Amino acid sequence: MTKRTIDDVLKELENKSRLSQADKPDESVPNTYDCPRCKDEFGFIERRGDMEVWVACACREWRRAQRLFKSSEITEEFKKLSFENFRTAGKHQSVKDACECAHEYVQAYPDVCGRRRNSIALLGNPGSGKTHLLTAAANDLMRRLHVPVLYFPFVEGFNDLKRDFTLLEDKLNRMKQIEVLFLDDLFKPAGGKPRATEWQIEQTYSIVNYRYLNHKPILLSSELEAEEIVRMDEALGTRLLEMCQDFLVVLKGNSFEINHRLEGMV
Ligand SMILES: [Zn+2]
Repeated sequence: MTKRTIDDVLKELENKSRLSQADKPDESVPNTYDCPRCKDEFGFIERRGDMEVWVACACREWRRAQRLFKSSEITEEFKKLSFENFRTAGKHQSVKDACECAHEYVQAYPDVCGRRRNSIALLGNPGSGKTHLLTAAANDLMRRLHVPVLYFPFVEGFNDLKRDFTLLEDKLNRMKQIEVLFLDDLFKPAGGKPRATEWQIEQTYSIVNYRYLNHKPILLSSELEAEEIVRMDEALGTRLLEMCQDFLVVLKGNSFEINHRLEGMV
C-alpha cells in the first residue's frame, strides 16, 4: 500500500461521502458523522467472495492526526504554517539556513529523538520566521510521523497558568511528559530586556531538566542568543543548549552564524 497524506485521505473521504449521498439521498437523516464512510464505527463490513470481513476505515489515520492537533494546543491559524508556505526568496541567508535546519531536523527526528542532543533551537532576530519554521516542524512531526507535540508560548502560557492555578500541576506534568515540547519565545524581552520571573525560571527549569534527563526533545525559539539564555539561568541555559547543539541557528541582524557545535558553552 502506498503512503497517503492526510489530505489524500480527507479528499477520498469527501468524495466517498458525496458518492454515497448521491446513491441514497436521505434528507430525513442529517449527516452528523465525522466520517460518513464508516459512520464513526472506525471500520465497516465488506463482502469478499462469500466472506464478510471487517475492514478498518481510512479515517483512523485522519482521526489520529486530528487528536494530535487538538491536544497540541496549536491554533487553527498556526496549523496552516508549513515549509511549503515559508518564503525564503529574497531573504537573508540566515533565514534560509534556519529553514534548512528545521527541515533537516524533521528528517533526522526518528534517529535523534532518543538521544540527549535531540532538540532544535532557532535564536535571535524577532520577526525572522522562527515561530513559523518551528510550527512547520511541529505540524510535520504530527502529520507525517504521528508524534505528539505540545505548544507552549512562554509569556501567554505562564500568564494563563497564573490566572488558573488549578491547571498548573496538570499542565506542568504534560509539559514534562509530552513527546515533543515546543517552547516558543523563551524569555521574550519586554522593553529591550529579557524577562522572566523567578517562578517562571523555576518552573521552566523543572520541565527542561526532566526532559534533559529523560531524553525528550524540545523545539525552542527565543530572541535571546545562547550566551544571554545562559546568563538568565546557567543550569537551565546550559541544559537547553546541550540538547539543541546539533540543530541550532542564530539569526543575527544582517550577519548570521550557524553553529552546530557550541564548544565551550556546555
Ligand atoms: Zn471512517
